[in-house]
Amino acid sequence: MIESSIEVPAAVNEPVLTYAPGSAERAELQRALASMAAAPIEVSAYIGGRDVPSAERVPMRSPHRHDLVLGHWHSAGPSQMDDAVAAALAAAPAWAATPWSARAAIFLKAAELLATKHRATLNAATMLGQSKTAHQAEIDAACELVDFWRFNVAFLPKILGDQPLSSRGVWNLLDHRPLDGFVLAVTPFNFTAIAGNLPTAPALMGNVVVWKPSATAMYSAHFILEILKEAGLPPGVINMVLGDPAAMVDRALASRHLAGVHFTGSTAVFRSIWAKVGAGVGAGRYRSYPRVVGETGGKDFVFAHPSADVDALAVALVRGAYEYQGQKCSAASRAYVPASLWPSLRARLMDVLPAITVGDVGDFAHFMGAVIDRRAYERITGAVKGALADPGCEVLHHGHDDHRGYFIRPTLIRVDDPGHALMRDELFGPVLAVFVYDDARYDDALARCANDSEYALTGAFWARDRGAITHASGVLRQGAGNFYVNDKPTGAVVGQQPFGGARASGTNDKAGSALNLLRWVSPRTVKETLVPPTEWRYPSMG
Ligand code: NAD
Repeated sequence: MIESSIEVPAAVNEPVLTYAPGSAERAELQRALASMAAAPIEVSAYIGGRDVPSAERVPMRSPHRHDLVLGHWHSAGPSQMDDAVAAALAAAPAWAATPWSARAAIFLKAAELLATKHRATLNAATMLGQSKTAHQAEIDAACELVDFWRFNVAFLPKILGDQPLSSRGVWNLLDHRPLDGFVLAVTPFNFTAIAGNLPTAPALMGNVVVWKPSATAMYSAHFILEILKEAGLPPGVINMVLGDPAAMVDRALASRHLAGVHFTGSTAVFRSIWAKVGAGVGAGRYRSYPRVVGETGGKDFVFAHPSADVDALAVALVRGAYEYQGQKCSAASRAYVPASLWPSLRARLMDVLPAITVGDVGDFAHFMGAVIDRRAYERITGAVKGALADPGCEVLHHGHDDHRGYFIRPTLIRVDDPGHALMRDELFGPVLAVFVYDDARYDDALARCANDSEYALTGAFWARDRGAITHASGVLRQGAGNFYVNDKPTGAVVGQQPFGGARASGTNDKAGSALNLLRWVSPRTVKETLVPPTEWRYPSMG
């Protein structure tokens, strides 16, 4: 028991290691890659502090090496969700009564374990299982997840410290209760950090959680859980279920005790979850109104003004569109370029793209790895095939090969119509569509950029002209939840650029900020009257 006004350690962003040739971190990561590839693992559900294996074993393969089986995950039926919910609810009273500093200590310890002892393991897991390069794994699995855990802890006492006024003779306070029930966390394949953050942010605020990871990121999910266990997470606080996504999630949404959903993934799945929660509310199924937080798809833009710096713009497009094979929700996938800049920009891009190598991320020289699975490969190559046959598209660079892994080369397509599907719909792959606008029709092009896509996640505006930046920032205000000036639209850093979009891109609750944590508390107002009145008549009645 500690009786003290507690200060948490100041949060600073975890430094990004370089993995340059000869560095200690590179040698350690290469050792981890080799040893983990040689030692397949079994990933089972984790319920009430116990591993729960099942008979149906699904292989986990490396996206860039069909022959590399990393192990198996154990698939269960939806009744496993009932067990997980029961275990979570059983753990709820003790966890809610745990002092906030004790909860925070667990996540600070997890951050420290990840920054040190387990850094190479989680990075290697993200490379092997999700085909991230060393740099992409480092900024995601190590740095961003460490940052989520440290910064969320730093936000916590600020939230708790936000207290109401007390007038004379009265003491008012806000009791930041957890939600009344359990939180369902449903996580995507493309960021290990998001998989780690969605279950832990509500847990830090005192909630109990059932976590359903993505089938294509089970491998790294297992190692996240191992870190949390080592950090001292009590049994039942976070429970992991493994099985058919729709069946599992539907079962959780059917529970009377559903108190919140913390989702990141595609817009279609989030819409279906919201609709089911809505129907459940309508039917009076839930004890409370579940909090629904979802960060979803994007069709992220880069808009170039005629005053843009072409050299820097080309680099931003290459990194913003093609890193992690374009499988970032924030990846640049549509660009608007003035005709006056297009010839020089095109020349620069066409210099770089053929030089990009795509391959096994175990070879650190590659800029890109494989896309996540066969479904993604078919979807993306199908769209490129459509563009090749479309007279309204000029495919400037492309290529694909699924012999050893799901490899798709950086693809650049110029479209005649700014309303083309390639400028509108999320494709989630290394495909950048460019619309070249007439400089004289700049305002029209900017308006199309602001309104053509249903998404509003990230966007970047490029100009040297300050007046143009101010004007475009206004026109594009509702067009992106994360707006970049003279930068690529990817790479948000926890604590610096709180992340989330609007419109069809999500509820914009800004992961990595106090705003998100606020969704996981249900404050109780407590008023205590120090000396209660003993006379029922008011003076005015005299
Ligand atoms: P996804 O929607 O396929 O899967 C997300 C999660 O939902 C997974 O756990 C999956 O198993 C589960 N799921 C799938 N089908 C379901 C169903 N019918 N019912 C219930 N749950 C279901 O998304 P993904 O392919 O893993 O991730 C890519 C998507 O996520 C992209 O659309 C991307 O833009 C988005 N994303 C958004 C953000 C953001 O912050 N806005 C961040 C990362 C990813």
